[in-house]
Amino acid sequence: MITAKARAVDGPDKPFRVAEIKRRNLDAKDVLIEIKYAGICHSDIHTAHGEWGQVNYPLVPGHEIAGIVTAVGPNTTKYKVGDRVGVGCMVDSCGECENCQKGEEQYCLKGNIPTYAGVDKYGEPTQGGYSTHIVVSEDFVVTIPDAIELDVAAPLLCAGITTYSPLNHWGAGSGRKVAVVGMGGLGHMAVQISHAMGAEVTVLSQTLNKQEDGLQLGADHYYATNDSETFKKLARTFDLIINTVSANINMDAYFSLLTLDGTLVNVGAPGEPLSLNVMSLIGHRRSFAGSLIGGIRETQEMLDFCAAHNIAPKIEVVSADQIDEAYQRVLASDVKYRFVIDISTM
Ligand code: NAP
Ligand code: ZN
Repeated sequence: MITAKARAVDGPDKPFRVAEIKRRNLDAKDVLIEIKYAGICHSDIHTAHGEWGQVNYPLVPGHEIAGIVTAVGPNTTKYKVGDRVGVGCMVDSCGECENCQKGEEQYCLKGNIPTYAGVDKYGEPTQGGYSTHIVVSEDFVVTIPDAIELDVAAPLLCAGITTYSPLNHWGAGSGRKVAVVGMGGLGHMAVQISHAMGAEVTVLSQTLNKQEDGLQLGADHYYATNDSETFKKLARTFDLIINTVSANINMDAYFSLLTLDGTLVNVGAPGEPLSLNVMSLIGHRRSFAGSLIGGIRETQEMLDFCAAHNIAPKIEVVSADQIDEAYQRVLASDVKYRFVIDISTM
């Protein structure tokens, strides 16, 4: 067993504390990663606070992991000691079902094994990246291109792939009008990626406070949703809307912004059910969809795409002692645009 230093929470209202966790000895195809940086995703907060249902505490969140390989199992073929690697939101899947075979492991028919708050194939609880080391099957590890520093690479492992995948799937290319709802961790990645894919990009943020950043990151237009004129002006405009908001919003108002055959994809994942009026969809043959992270092959493709297009998240590096404070700031939409924990401060 390998001992890792970590930060854990013991309940939905509890602060983070210093913890020691065990990582398994390397199996034949495992790699041991010394974690250098871990991003703070809003999903970590939803989970730690129990908003997505029952969690087994203590919980070590973190699924935006960037680090260096420090040991490999005897049958590994993809990685060697010293490689710069990343781990995202899942660490295993059945590998055999039709979705896994297609490279869509996130939709594994037996359920993917999440990086934390899951149970691995050995029956042990999975614990995430707010820790110094992790052991992962090489099939769930990706290569971080040399052009991307490890601190900015970390958020790509969730915020990057979660926006890249639907933009790719629903085609955010040239001639397409894309709106991104919410300029947070996911949103500011969606802006950069859809711009690089060639779409005309509009940000729909609660206020104009982050307008300058949005335009600098590649948005063509920026509107405040607290201004009701925005919804009148942009009625029936967009081919694709990516909703990254972590809370429930008035879906019908956003559906009204879709053109004929337009699609609104929810990646934002509030714990509470939402309501909608189907008439908002029926009238213009609109679709309402969801999307979960992306497969391993697509995650590598996304990293290479970001390297080629010079895309990187804007981050604020924090120490391990600042996790609680960072959570409060994310909840207050006071983050530009991703907190990343420097794991050397563990
Ligand atoms: P984040 O950094 O907190 O960004 C969310 C943004 O939503 C905020 O910056 C804010 O943008 C907007 N917002 C927040 N509360 C709002 C409210 N009450 N009304 C309107 N807008 C509001 O969070 P994130 O890390 O990007 O994650 C966003 C969501 O995606 C979370 O629910 C997370 O769990 C989910 N997620 C899903 C997947 C997936 O696979 N589907 C993967 C990762 C994360 P403005 O300030 O611009 O208004
Ligand atoms: Zn995430």
